[in-house]
Amino acid sequence: MLEILHIASEVFPFSKTGGLADVAYSLPKAQLALGAKTKVFTPLYKDIYNNFSLDKVIFNTNIQTQCGNFNFQVYKHLYNDLEFYFFRNDHFFFREGYYSEKGAEYGDNFLRFGCFCEAILQFLDFFELNPHIIHIHDWQASFIPTLIKTKYPFIKSKIFLTIHNITFQGIFDKYCLQMLNIPEYLYNIEFLEFYGAVNFLKGAIVFSDFITTVSPTYAKEITSPEFGYGLDGLLRKYQHKLKGILNGIDYEFYNPERDNFIYEKYNKENIYKKETNKNMLCNKLSLSNNKPLFIYISRFSEQKGIDLIVNMLETKDMSNFTIVILGSGSIDIEERLKAISSYKNNIYVYIGYNEPLAHKLYASADFLLMPSRFEPCGLSQLIAMRYGTIPIVSKRGGLIDTVKDIKEKGYGFFVDTLNAHSIYYNMERAYNLYCDKEHLYNIAYKCMSLDFSWRKHAAEYLRCYKLSIDYNGDSYEI
Ligand code: ADP
Repeated sequence: MLEILHIASEVFPFSKTGGLADVAYSLPKAQLALGAKTKVFTPLYKDIYNNFSLDKVIFNTNIQTQCGNFNFQVYKHLYNDLEFYFFRNDHFFFREGYYSEKGAEYGDNFLRFGCFCEAILQFLDFFELNPHIIHIHDWQASFIPTLIKTKYPFIKSKIFLTIHNITFQGIFDKYCLQMLNIPEYLYNIEFLEFYGAVNFLKGAIVFSDFITTVSPTYAKEITSPEFGYGLDGLLRKYQHKLKGILNGIDYEFYNPERDNFIYEKYNKENIYKKETNKNMLCNKLSLSNNKPLFIYISRFSEQKGIDLIVNMLETKDMSNFTIVILGSGSIDIEERLKAISSYKNNIYVYIGYNEPLAHKLYASADFLLMPSRFEPCGLSQLIAMRYGTIPIVSKRGGLIDTVKDIKEKGYGFFVDTLNAHSIYYNMERAYNLYCDKEHLYNIAYKCMSLDFSWRKHAAEYLRCYKLSIDYNGDSYEI
């Protein structure tokens, strides 16, 4: 039986800031259903400790660094038959944020996640665990292959790296390698050195057996200077082990037929019940329910194009639309949105993270706005379509792989040029569709008929794992 160990810095339902957490739960869950033996390793954040009942594992380790020694303990929890292991060091992980606080990255992130990675390898060594595959996600887990190369060469698992967003690379001062007791020769352009600093993700790209990213188009994009954020050359060099596999979403959790967060459950055969959700939501938020409802659910970061939406709200006549925005991030954007919503009664803004509200919005809305400047895969548009909400998206990354414009017999809208005017133009297109209720329901029905579950793509991961296990020095047939 294939044994897989996933390592991620956030995992739903325990910790979540974005799509990584969804995938770090739903992919292992889908692999378990396909017969693989799957575990997930993640840090123990304060909220997890306070909100879940955990079993302590008899294990204790001290990670030695030039910044001091750091103790780790491990806790276990079974959730939907999936085994989760939480690595506990209160100094590192009992903080307000996971990676940053009040907009500033924690200064010791290299130490927090470097030690987290080493504690995992100590754990594997102690219990003599030898999974076939160690599947690391993003830069926070990216120190694993560097540690294996230098300090844990007896670990023979194949290493899979998934890049969820290449803009987050884990770039630190060059002295961090010394602090983590890593030999000096790795501070070299062939390995972790990156423009005079150390890049954790770069190390993982070099040392992993296989690299995936979360959509086929993004896999191509990141090998170009425009989207590679300095790693495009390296990724071109390692293209033979790079593949784009589209993310899925958990069709049990995101299921309008069973979702307890929403007002009225529905499926594609009684899609008109979305209207009940919309009425209840609009009533609750004191919004008009007889205009098309547009939602935005995402981080307030430049990546997501929220600044373009804010520009549009500030400058265009929005009186034909009802708009709800859920998210947090850039302080400037938060302030501008608060100001707009204070004088426009058709715009509601919720600053913060709110899972139940997100579900209510997906179930109630007519359209989702997602004008991302780049989008590795994007889950929000997949969730929206699962709930019969029609996506209005940019032509980038995973959005290209998952959305098709109505002009081409599709089920969404592409914003061709990334500016406020073009988003507005597509909202007007959406408005025209909204005015033809039968056509609107047909398109929403089409969205709900698509399959973005993990079924196919989790199996593709298993196929790639087997390729790397059987690898005999020839190039992969990927
Ligand atoms: P990201 O780049 O942030 O990972 P994705 O589209 O891949 O974007 O995934 C975002 C996930 O986070 C989705 O499940 C979305 O519903 C959820 N999400 C984002 N912001 C919020 C919020 N403020 N409240 C609730 N859920 C949110």
